[in-house]
Amino acid sequence: MKKIEHIGIAVKDLETSNQLFEKLLGKPPYKEEEVASEGVKTSFFENGPNKIELLESTKPDGPIGKFIEKKGEGIHHIAFEVDNIHEEMERLKAEGFIILNDKPKKGADNKLVAFVHPKTANGVLVELCQEIR
Ligand code: ZN
Repeated sequence: MKKIEHIGIAVKDLETSNQLFEKLLGKPPYKEEEVASEGVKTSFFENGPNKIELLESTKPDGPIGKFIEKKGEGIHHIAFEVDNIHEEMERLKAEGFIILNDKPKKGADNKLVAFVHPKTANGVLVELCQEIR
């Protein structure tokens, strides 16, 4: 694990929240991207070495739609940057963590991603992400 790459925040309306976070961080998002396979629209803000990812659901039964229905808007996951996502997945499995993906999948922002089940991580949904080179 290298550093916190980004913090993912579930929001109801991306446009409204983009304006809010632009005020909060003092700059606009540097990109918006839809990940159709996950049923989300995302935007990314840079903040020093870390990023904030806002996620709006594009389908009510998608992961973000379900999260907001259960818990409301708020922090959804913490993403850690890794050099080799396959090795990290194996290492964490050996440590007893449940990994939600059999293999890494393509996420937003040019990343391979995999998730650690929150029930094995003190209630925190952990994302591993590796830059696609
Ligand atoms: Zn993320």
